[in-house]
Amino acid sequence: MALMVGVSGVRGIVGETLTPEVALQFAHAYGTLLEGRRVVLARDSRPSGEMFAAAVVSGLLAAGCPVTDLGIAMTPTVGHAIRTEKYAGGVVITASHNPGQWNGLKFLDELGLAPDPDRARRIAEIRAEGHYRNVRADFPARNADAEAGERHAEAVLAAMEVDPSPLRGMRVVLDSVNGAGCQDTPGFLSELGCEVVHINGEPTGVFAHPPEPLAENLTQLCQAVRQAHAAVGFAQDPDADRLAIVDEEGEFIGEEYTLALSAESVLSRRAGPVAANLSTSRMIDDVAARHGVTVVRTPVGEAHVARAMLANDCVIGGEGNGGVIDLRISPVRDSLTGISQVLQLVAATGQTIGQLVASLPRYALIKQKLECPRERIDRAVEAVSAAFAGQRLNRSDGVRIDLADGWVHLRASNTEPIMRVMAEAGSDEAARALVGRVRAAAGL
Ligand code: MG
Repeated sequence: MALMVGVSGVRGIVGETLTPEVALQFAHAYGTLLEGRRVVLARDSRPSGEMFAAAVVSGLLAAGCPVTDLGIAMTPTVGHAIRTEKYAGGVVITASHNPGQWNGLKFLDELGLAPDPDRARRIAEIRAEGHYRNVRADFPARNADAEAGERHAEAVLAAMEVDPSPLRGMRVVLDSVNGAGCQDTPGFLSELGCEVVHINGEPTGVFAHPPEPLAENLTQLCQAVRQAHAAVGFAQDPDADRLAIVDEEGEFIGEEYTLALSAESVLSRRAGPVAANLSTSRMIDDVAARHGVTVVRTPVGEAHVARAMLANDCVIGGEGNGGVIDLRISPVRDSLTGISQVLQLVAATGQTIGQLVASLPRYALIKQKLECPRERIDRAVEAVSAAFAGQRLNRSDGVRIDLADGWVHLRASNTEPIMRVMAEAGSDEAARALVGRVRAAAGL
């Protein structure tokens, strides 16, 4: 497995493709690009994080960048800190939902977004050429800031628009998967009046279950919700930018509902456009149509969604994987924002999670991945686009075809030599038939 280098940073297997030397070089290159301006640093709870933090601090200081180290903190906390404390950039040491043997560096720019492709290329070039900036005097310092997570949580609370008093005494089970969400999420829920049952709540980075917040990994949370007779279960990924939800029956509702319910929550109070990537469920279109607003569709990738939100002044946006963005907090996906929006919807309507889910149309969503070289994927996209000419096509990231009874999206992964095929329709059979039609047209 090679070191994965993308626009938002690098990921690798610790001690194999990702070593302190690699982290030092990338941090030194990013510090060079930032010309010695202030940088904020955080890490998720992985035990390898400390080692990489030392290397990243070293590279940034060598380039003349003063470093504010948040220690273990959520990725959205870094986004909020960049905005409020005016940092020139941020580095988060995390491999997000990847298993424990992985780690990575995620770079954020002065807005909190992944660097644009030009800047990402510059970082790689500076590293490849070894043309680092090195200060020889006036050495910058590393400072600590242990309160950034609390300030972030306070900002999300302050942005609430619904009286939270109906939430008082509501029992909530939180699964922080021993990640960066452990520290500030329980207090956030307590501030709302909820009674919190916290599982996997020590930020040890030793994940109690595979850390991606998917149905198969959340059986412990489902069981805990039933045992506690809780109203809802929330699951975060290790850097707490994604959120998945379990209903009052202890059923995992599917990660696509996090954004759909958050959009329903916001749009029931305020009108404005919403943004989602092309692989996100049509539920967002149904919610937007219900409230008479438009959906801006973007290529897959958090930064694409965030840039579209900034350009269109969107009131909410995100991704179907449980990532919700509220620009009033930061342009970063934020599990606290997702929790806040879903609980505001519960408080405002008096409905349970199960009732709210039932009020949305139910679709079957199929996700497939096929190993495939890049050129083969490009040819497949062309062949499918030709076969569906005359239909509603979006070509901004592979090809998405919207039909009356469903949609299908064919694209190349940003990080691996695989093709992703997603289809959504009213039934599982109909979604499978859509995948079949597209694969036949692609000759796959
Ligand atoms: Mg994540």
